[in-house]
Amino acid sequence: MEFRKLRLSGFKSFVEPSELRIEPGLTGVVGPNGCGKSNLLEAIRWVMAESSPKSMRSGGMEDVIFAGTSTRPPRDFAEVVLHAKDDDGEDLDVTRRIERGAGSAYRLNGRDVRAKDISLIFADAATGAHSPALVSQGKIAQVIAAKSTERRMMLEEAAGIAGLHVRRRDAESK
Ligand code: ATP
Ligand code: MG
Repeated sequence: MEFRKLRLSGFKSFVEPSELRIEPGLTGVVGPNGCGKSNLLEAIRWVMAESSPKSMRSGGMEDVIFAGTSTRPPRDFAEVVLHAKDDDGEDLDVTRRIERGAGSAYRLNGRDVRAKDISLIFADAATGAHSPALVSQGKIAQVIAAKSTERRMMLEEAAGIAGLHVRRRDAESK
């Protein structure tokens, strides 16, 4: 899977609609402290259906919505769109939107889908929200300190088999 484009609106510090092209090869994001570099990575995780506020450095899920500044009013929604191409070259358009008091909604190529549908797509492609491809601050120390079961989960994400557990739990509960 290749990520091609990211669109953000009202997400954390990205209050105005912003679009970033992701070119093939290595992408670097540079800028002064606090300019939103980590927020960008969190947007990528979030649109892949990250459900833990902690890994978004937030208290609650709605904290990703632009909270306002002394000169700008807060927003009442946040939206992130990720355009990708899957391994068969098919376009993949994933949208996640959260509104205050209304929770998250997901769309895949314009159709309403569940969070689970989105996380399975990325887990199968081994690029999911918990993928070792996203190395955040403190992650290396975490890998070293991790219990063996946690380390196994990281390896399973990397191998692209994490989605199988979800499917097995699903099958067993039917
Ligand atoms: P560093 O170089 O220090 O790692 P960074 O470029 O990674 O900085 P981020 O952590 O991405 O910076 O951005 C932090 C900024 O985002 C802070 O100014 C913070 O106020 C702002 N921010 C985070 N959440 C929100 C929100 N919900 N509403 C408005 N601003 C927010
Ligand atoms: Mg940072």
